[in-house]
Amino acid sequence: MCGRGQDMAFPDYCAHCGGPVVLPPTAAPLPRPTGLPGMWNHAGRLPVTPDTAWLSMGEGGTPVVPAAAAAGWCAVEHLMFKLDHLNPSGSFKDRATAVGVAQAVWQRAQAVVCASSGNAAGSTAAYAARAGLPAIVLMPEAVPPGKAAIARAHGAIVLRVRGDYSNAFRAARELAARFGWINLTTTYVNPVAVAGLKSAGYELADQLAQTPDWIVVPVGAGPLVHGIVTAYREMRNAGEAAALPRILGVQAEGCAPIADAFDRGAAEVAPWQEVRTRISAISDPLRGYPSDGSYTLRLVRETGGAMATVGDAEAGEAVDRLAHREGLLIESGAAADLVAVRALRARGTIGADETVVCMLTGHGAKTLATGAEVGGPVVADADEAVDRLRAHTAIAEGMTV
Ligand SMILES: *Cc1c(COP(=O)(O)O)cnc(C)c1O
Ligand SMILES: [Zn+2]
Repeated sequence: MCGRGQDMAFPDYCAHCGGPVVLPPTAAPLPRPTGLPGMWNHAGRLPVTPDTAWLSMGEGGTPVVPAAAAAGWCAVEHLMFKLDHLNPSGSFKDRATAVGVAQAVWQRAQAVVCASSGNAAGSTAAYAARAGLPAIVLMPEAVPPGKAAIARAHGAIVLRVRGDYSNAFRAARELAARFGWINLTTTYVNPVAVAGLKSAGYELADQLAQTPDWIVVPVGAGPLVHGIVTAYREMRNAGEAAALPRILGVQAEGCAPIADAFDRGAAEVAPWQEVRTRISAISDPLRGYPSDGSYTLRLVRETGGAMATVGDAEAGEAVDRLAHREGLLIESGAAADLVAVRALRARGTIGADETVVCMLTGHGAKTLATGAEVGGPVVADADEAVDRLRAHTAIAEGMTV
């Protein structure tokens, strides 16, 4: 944030200003695509080499599809989804983790550690397993159980830290410093891993005919904002992209430190006092590292973008809408994008004819309720099934049973 150079031997916050440290952008002309699958196609522009491509499980290269039904609901004509929930461990975090684990292999680290609200944990655990490295994962006490179970299924050591995400963050940072482990927490704490998120921006430019007017990004600390904006800036400097997309950052009403600073017109983000939301993927109070938020806020403003907040109930409705009408099972933190687009369209911030791409960052399977009670009724045979079907108005009205 202060523009001064940093020693990268052990990644941490800036020694001068305490702000986040990021790698310098790749200089023009940008290296050409490698032809390798997924994210490794842009290895030349990321801190990885084709030597570590064996680590890949197909991260990146996710589809962009039209939002058939949601476009009408949002009153936006050109609405698209980038299906980043289709990354190997079910979230965009794999873009950062794959690069961070490649770094750990290259530096011969003994282990990797991360703090996670859920998705980084599963991602770190999976890639560490593939690399043959132990993974230590620290999660907030109230983490969705399915997400902790996934990390454990990959053999990670999972500890829940009392309190919210920021407490887990502090513990992971301390362990990394004490033992020389690579910290894969997906705030800005690891600039090498964060650089992996630029891949999303390169792909969007490859997939879309033109730079979209808006890219909608769910935001905890905001490294994905940095990744997309940096990628478009690099491509613009190299003459590959004509414009910079505006970023619409989305936070939960019950934990919105960056959106709050945006609304106040403040340059500095203040830590959020008390987390009051169940949208776990984006509830980061930034306690101890508010400058992460200030950096993200600056980027959003530099794109001419905006921040929006979404309530738990609305996000839940967006989850249902995506699952029922688009066939997309998406977790609340990412489904929240839709609510934000609809709200900003209604306010006139987003124009009816503007092109909008929502980053669908996380799969909904990990946060589904499980257990016998959600499995549906049990019937003995076809006759009993017909009795049950008659009770469904959708079927009773539309067809004969
Ligand atoms: C982690 C996460 C985010 C937010 O990412 P930050 O790096 O915290 O800004 C958004 N959506 C999903 C599904 C996530 O897992
Ligand atoms: Zn600095």
